[in-house]
Amino acid sequence: MLLIKNGRVMDPKSGLDQVCDVLVQDGKIIKIAPEVKEEGAEIIDATGLVVAPGLVDIHVHFREPGQTHKEDIHTGALAAAAGGFTTVVMMANTSPTISDVETLQEVLHSAAKEKINVKTVATITKNFNGQDLTDFKALLEAGAVGFSDDGIPLESSKVVKEAMEEAKKLNTFISLHEEDPGLNGILGFNENIAKEHFHICGATGVAEYAMMARDVMIAYATKAHVHIQHLSKEESVKVVEFAQKLGAQVTAEVAPQHFSKTEALLLTQGSNAKMNPPLRLESDRRAVIEGLKSGVITVIATDHAPHHADEKNVKDITKAPSGMTGLETSLSLGLTYLVEAEELSLMELLEKMTYNPAKLYNFEAGYLAENGPADITIFDAKADRLVDSHFASKATNSPFIGETLKGQVKYTICKGQIVYQN
Ligand SMILES: [Zn+2]
Repeated sequence: MLLIKNGRVMDPKSGLDQVCDVLVQDGKIIKIAPEVKEEGAEIIDATGLVVAPGLVDIHVHFREPGQTHKEDIHTGALAAAAGGFTTVVMMANTSPTISDVETLQEVLHSAAKEKINVKTVATITKNFNGQDLTDFKALLEAGAVGFSDDGIPLESSKVVKEAMEEAKKLNTFISLHEEDPGLNGILGFNENIAKEHFHICGATGVAEYAMMARDVMIAYATKAHVHIQHLSKEESVKVVEFAQKLGAQVTAEVAPQHFSKTEALLLTQGSNAKMNPPLRLESDRRAVIEGLKSGVITVIATDHAPHHADEKNVKDITKAPSGMTGLETSLSLGLTYLVEAEELSLMELLEKMTYNPAKLYNFEAGYLAENGPADITIFDAKADRLVDSHFASKATNSPFIGETLKGQVKYTICKGQIVYQN
């Protein structure tokens, strides 16, 4: 038995925000009350700390199978626990991609060994070919939680429509990475800094919001649910808002890097600040924050994308892979750039990192209640933390190394077990 004493217990589902004790047994929360006494329980003193639901991240790349020099499911799970996450959803751009039941089972077999909940989507099209749908029904039955070709946008509107119809029929949804290759230049560099500093054609805004506009309207027409991944442009927020107002079933996520930083970070952090979609303009950063505040964007997801230092440190930055390791800085970026900046309340931040993403996938997670899962994150919301290059992830490709952020995870508890302690 585990007794968490005197923490500020915050539950976005019920609205509870009170100093309480939390008693855990057999993977469940059995009591939440102002004072709980239990002989023989292991005590965690959470005085001055926040006791929140275990964080949920619906967008991570764990690189297994195929690219385990960057990350594997085990180190990815350790990075998640260190960042306060107890449930994550892997993307399917592994090698091979998660397009058939056999590969899915291999991934889930590996995931089941971890102490946190590691789930995965399967691809929408076979081996990312953009043409032929995978067997959604068989993949769902085998344990996939949803579908995405994240990393490779779906160019064919016909395929998007077919995928939405199939997902709807099976009571699930597809998630889309929106960057139309036909409208784009070199990925990872926002078009402005690409032109002014790197003298190349970069990643355009229209590539993102035009493809998104097409897809939210297909969702509107098919009455299917589409989830928009990591939107980054001011216009994209407006597109999602428009579609939602029209009655389309559209949800959206933003990555912490997009509400924290702009394209200028490339000048100081180089390839570690290169990602798809790229860091954009201050007006875009402001717009995604407004989208979070208004509720157009309900989910914060990291797009944790570990790469090996040798791959990132190539001479020609345009050849470096896109993406950043994100699980271990996500909470701190939210605390720094949203809560300390007085954009969101701490409860609103937690809602977008726990209850909302869990609800999207119908996970039994993201809330604190008696008889609910003992997936709990305990953190100091006020502590200063200098981000250094020591990560539980195999990768260190973070543009936030050297920056002092708010917040320190103290304990991550999953299924009643302490899985991380600092
Ligand atoms: Zn993506």
